[in-house]
Amino acid sequence: MTRHYNFCAGPAAMPEAVLERARDEMLDYRGHGLSVMEMSHRSPEYVAIAEQAEADLRELLAIPDNYRVLFTQGGATLQFSAVPYNLLGRGGRANFLHTGIWSKKAIAEARHLAGDVHVAASSEESGHSAVPRQKDIVLSEDAAYLHYTANETIGGLEFDYIPEARRPDGSEVPLVCDMSSSILSGPLDVSRFGVIYAGAQKNIGPAGLVVVIVREDLLDRARDDMPSLLGYRELAEAGSMINTPATYSWYLAGLVFDWLKGEIGGLDAMNALNDRKAGKLYDAIDASALYANPITLRNRSRMNVPFVLADPSLDKAFLAEAEATGLLNLKGHRSVGGMRASLYNAVPEAAVDALIAFMADFEKRRG
Ligand code: PMP
Repeated sequence: MTRHYNFCAGPAAMPEAVLERARDEMLDYRGHGLSVMEMSHRSPEYVAIAEQAEADLRELLAIPDNYRVLFTQGGATLQFSAVPYNLLGRGGRANFLHTGIWSKKAIAEARHLAGDVHVAASSEESGHSAVPRQKDIVLSEDAAYLHYTANETIGGLEFDYIPEARRPDGSEVPLVCDMSSSILSGPLDVSRFGVIYAGAQKNIGPAGLVVVIVREDLLDRARDDMPSLLGYRELAEAGSMINTPATYSWYLAGLVFDWLKGEIGGLDAMNALNDRKAGKLYDAIDASALYANPITLRNRSRMNVPFVLADPSLDKAFLAEAEATGLLNLKGHRSVGGMRASLYNAVPEAAVDALIAFMADFEKRRG
């Protein structure tokens, strides 16, 4: 068996230790005589797994007691609709920061549901190469919340600060964040947010699961015409078990949380490792004549590093040779082309070292 280095943007690399543990527990989960994926979600064994996962996530992110954690489905994409359904019931307008493809999709979904939305700031003019600064963010008088995308997975653009969400009259509104591709990459002050959501398939676990962290006082702002499965209150009251949850993904997410706590040593340690991994790849790109990344230094994503080759006719050879070297999924998103190396938590530093060595060798031979 050979495991290659996987730089996929999602579904992404899983920690090898987690896969090994899942393998060991696959046929007979801790003496219960069945696999986790065969368990009733209402069984005491499974409820214990689910509760432990939540407890570990709460510990990792130091989630305050007045927040509920939901383990739901439909991808981050369904949250683009769930957020306006849950937060616009008392009127007001959805406000957005537009920083790239994922925030644009969130804006489009909110428009479907709520009609008019307000874009409080956009980085479109800069080609999404730098996030808006706080002083450039202007909410509408009737803002109900401000939504932003902490890390634009395709553009490789990451916020270097948590925005303040205040209407022009100074009153604060809930801050909502799509944290799909950066959650758990380092410590976080959850108390700054009204809602955080993240699709699991990058830093949390396998696809099929979405984690939502919602402040309790926001549970009574929902529209009354929405599907109950989207309702934060309904999900919270049912322990995320209105219907059958994504039991196996939830279990694997729990193993990832346990790995982060134990093997990695928590989110401060993860943060330092992520700084080191991304730092050395950006250094290599900046030092080369063949590779380039267009993002303003302070907004360069630590999780997704897009880069282009000075001569795009070399793209195909680059990808083919990388793959033959065991470096997988380096092709940029189909909408932007070029390359992208995703360096999520589970991508080991050795993978980054191998990529940098390959890039230097390729440049020497072909550049
Ligand atoms: N938001 C961001 C920032 C993403 O990276 C993605 C997926 N790549 C999504 C939303 C959509 O997630 P899903 O496929 O889980 O709906």
